[in-house]
Amino acid sequence: MSIHNYDVVIVGAGPGGSTAAKEAAESGLKTIFFERGRKPGEKNSSGSGLGPRMWLDFDIMKELSPDVCPSMRAGTAARHYFVDSNDEVASYIMTRPTSSVNYEPAKSFITMNIYRSEFDPWLAKFATDAGAELKTSTLIVGLLKEDGKVVGVIDEKGEKYRGIVIGADGVISTVARESGLRSKWAQKQVTITIQYDFEVSPKKIDDIMGDETLAVWWSAVFPAAYQVFFNDGFHIGFGNWMSWWDKNPLHYLNRCIKLKYFQRLVRILDAKPREFQSHLLPWQGEPYDTHTDNVMLIGDAGGFPCPLEAEGMYPAMITGRAAAEVAAEAISEGDTSIEFLSRYDTAWKKTSVGEDFEAGSELYSIWKALPFSPRENMSWIVPLVSEVLGGIIDWSEPHPKRIRQVARTIKGYLPKIIPMLMKEILPLLTASLGEEKMDLVTNPEKLLAAMPEVELALAQAFMSADDEEE
Ligand SMILES: Cc1cc2nc3c(=O)[nH]c(=O)nc-3n(C[C@H](O)[C@H](O)[C@H](O)COP(=O)(O)OP(=O)(O)OC[C@H]3O[C@@H](n4cnc5c(N)ncnc54)[C@H](O)[C@@H]3O)c2cc1C
Repeated sequence: MSIHNYDVVIVGAGPGGSTAAKEAAESGLKTIFFERGRKPGEKNSSGSGLGPRMWLDFDIMKELSPDVCPSMRAGTAARHYFVDSNDEVASYIMTRPTSSVNYEPAKSFITMNIYRSEFDPWLAKFATDAGAELKTSTLIVGLLKEDGKVVGVIDEKGEKYRGIVIGADGVISTVARESGLRSKWAQKQVTITIQYDFEVSPKKIDDIMGDETLAVWWSAVFPAAYQVFFNDGFHIGFGNWMSWWDKNPLHYLNRCIKLKYFQRLVRILDAKPREFQSHLLPWQGEPYDTHTDNVMLIGDAGGFPCPLEAEGMYPAMITGRAAAEVAAEAISEGDTSIEFLSRYDTAWKKTSVGEDFEAGSELYSIWKALPFSPRENMSWIVPLVSEVLGGIIDWSEPHPKRIRQVARTIKGYLPKIIPMLMKEILPLLTASLGEEKMDLVTNPEKLLAAMPEVELALAQAFMSADDEEE
């Protein structure tokens, strides 16, 4: 078998691999990327919501349109259903981008929803247009090694490809395993994520859902389920770490889709089940072991999905770009050692993805405590939210009496609310605001000193109270 020489060999043509291939080819590197599917996107989950940061950081996103990606549907508003322990939707609220969101297209949608079978080939074409070579229907089975060091990859036919290796091969990464970077994920680092995909006519979605084309089913009985609408259908699914499941995950997903409320939606939308999918997805507080001699891991292979809601497309693209830039530097300086490639960690940590991981362990922890802990926490949070939302708009008693009743009920939750605040909310605020600013929030004296108006107002209020007493 022959050896083919490249500057960069990339395993995987998902969003990470295609972005790395495009950037590498554009910087003049001889680049090849491999995809085991017959085309990019064939082996991925049906659809994804794309985060607006993709439009901020990747100019090509402005070219994404229904002409090239007919499944596109903007996820403009999100319904948040709260499902109680009796499988009832106890309350729901609707949210859309808020006034503090300060750029387009983030003001216009929360996510842009697409099918991967359309998006991934579209993205890969930018790489091939830039000169990268794409080999589809090609499974990479191992790494080419010389003197114990990785120098390239080997495909299932035994063809060998030399070059700096970028592992963009997703959650079950051959590159991670064969390079010795990771033998397998720990149970608390990887989720099993299952979903049903339904077909619905675009007109029905327009008429019935309008722009409410995202939903989260927060629940006291199953991990929070996401529902994402595409042009001609939607999927509903959820995940949790491998260590959580005490029953087959399908038991819980079926419980979700059997909700009376959900069934009513299925009926009025005339939704027809189209596909069932089960995938793994890394979900951790911090990526680690992302590179070794001549190898870098990007996207899911490196464990980069966001530590809060596991948004993974944008991190894959950002880390793909960072790895390609570092590969170009490494090749021009003739040094692809682990020490040189530590520039990759420096590079992604400077990005918006790195900023998310600065609060990674706190974000991971709060997600674990809320949507991923239905029985332990959502079982009291759902009734609490419903009490607040529904309690006041209630005609059963005079309103002042209702307010006292609601306040008493909320007081009953304090033994749960306060530990949650201390254990989850304050650490996250501290990680986001910094110790100094948090000290301001939690230290009343400093807070007053920082806001002289408040101090003055309080002093005046007390003075007038004193006057009244006199
Ligand atoms: C059910 C589900 C829903 C999700 N929803 C969202 C969402 O709404 N928004 C979002 O941002 N993220 C979402 N994610 C996460 C997102 O899909 C991933 O984070 C993202 O696809 C990672 O991109 P990647 O390029 O690193 O890997 P992948 O997209 O997994 O691409 C890896 C590619 O490598 C190929 N490959 C693997 N092994 C080999 C090999 N040995 N040889 C050749 N080719 C190989 C695969 O076929 C695949 O095409 C979701 C994930 C799941 C499972």
